[in-house]
Amino acid sequence: MRSVLVIGGGIGGMATAIRLRQLGHKVKLIDSDPNWRVYGAGITITGPTLRAFKRMGLLDPVLANGGFVTGYKTFLFDGTLLGQTEEQPVEPDLPVAGGIMRPVLHAIMSGEVRRLNVEVVLGVSAEEITNQTDHVDVTFSDGKKQSFDLVVGADGIYSKTRPMLFPSAVAPKPTGQGSWRIVAPRPQGMVHGQFYVGHQNLVGMTPVSDDAIYMFILNPDPDRKWIEPAEQPALVRTLLADFGGDVATIRDNVTEASSIVYRPLEAALQPAPWSVGRVVLIGDAVHATTPHLASGAGAAVEDALVLAEELERAGEDVPAALTAFTARRYERCRIVVDSSIAIGAHQLARGPMDQLGPMMKAPLTALAAEY
Ligand SMILES: Cc1cc2nc3c(=O)[nH]c(=O)nc-3n(C[C@H](O)[C@H](O)[C@H](O)COP(=O)(O)OP(=O)(O)OC[C@H]3O[C@@H](n4cnc5c(N)ncnc54)[C@H](O)[C@@H]3O)c2cc1C
Repeated sequence: MRSVLVIGGGIGGMATAIRLRQLGHKVKLIDSDPNWRVYGAGITITGPTLRAFKRMGLLDPVLANGGFVTGYKTFLFDGTLLGQTEEQPVEPDLPVAGGIMRPVLHAIMSGEVRRLNVEVVLGVSAEEITNQTDHVDVTFSDGKKQSFDLVVGADGIYSKTRPMLFPSAVAPKPTGQGSWRIVAPRPQGMVHGQFYVGHQNLVGMTPVSDDAIYMFILNPDPDRKWIEPAEQPALVRTLLADFGGDVATIRDNVTEASSIVYRPLEAALQPAPWSVGRVVLIGDAVHATTPHLASGAGAAVEDALVLAEELERAGEDVPAALTAFTARRYERCRIVVDSSIAIGAHQLARGPMDQLGPMMKAPLTALAAEY
């Protein structure tokens, strides 16, 4: 049994805490947010992400609380149907893909963290992390000190753990697009995810429950301005003015109560290695991606599974396990980040719309293979 500190209680940190507790390790999880909040948007869960939740034993609550699809419909922005696919699940007992509200997923995962008796400390961060030969010394922001066998930095795209390990780490870079997410009623009988192409704003929607969907808009956003919540519904209506189909219905009914979440997009892939001694970084701290493949959260859950596997395999040699972790994860996560950035750049350049499908299909096929 090892003592493990997980820094950051997002999807990657919670997945790590759950998996390592399942294997009998002693886990402490800290999050700098005293209220451990998560914003109220939907999140797409692809086939590989569903497989990762299944491996963690969390598939049933995800299935019970999410919304799922059998394939995709692609429309011209005005609502003209261009094509429809039925997809194969990555494993026979899984849905093809779907979505769930982030607060619902957070409740499922944080509930499991608590049930497994992970020690959760909120409103605290790690101020100093010192690798020793056989342990790591940590000083917390409340002045307390503690030693661990292993420290996992899962503190997201703006990780404070990252510069402690790698002073010359790559800073997150704006991609020039913004992301809008809006919650709306699920259109009657909807069993396909939807994409709307041929416009400078790419739009899509995924169910997040039996009766709700989230719609996303990816738009050119060079200014990265703060937009007051009260101004957001009118701006959404402007962005969607040319659209038809189900998008038009949602646009015409959008209000401040539509759980609108706006965010300018940034990304950063850190060079390997992702560990120093007994401290490792996972999730967005090392492979922060844009949402174009909807695979960032899935990659973070896979990180947790692979980290646990490599720790089991390496026995006493924790640094060797962490080296093996980067070796197994780097290329797969590079595919997610680089392909997502390339798809966004293609949209910004108004590249041929018939290339979008193949640009998404190739990396998604790679990710469908076992991690
Ligand atoms: C617009 C947008 C849409 C997306 N849509 C999808 C999608 O549909 N599907 C998908 O799979 N992925 C999606 N992603 C990616 C996904 O959200 C991330 O990859 C995933 O949340 C990363 O999880 P994480 O645990 O690494 O980081 P985070 O979720 O960012 O969690 C980090 C945690 O660390 C805490 N923290 C931060 N700093 C400190 C500190 N110093 N000390 C302690 N705690 C700290 C934070 O409070 C937070 O709880 C999207 C991303 C964006 C930007």
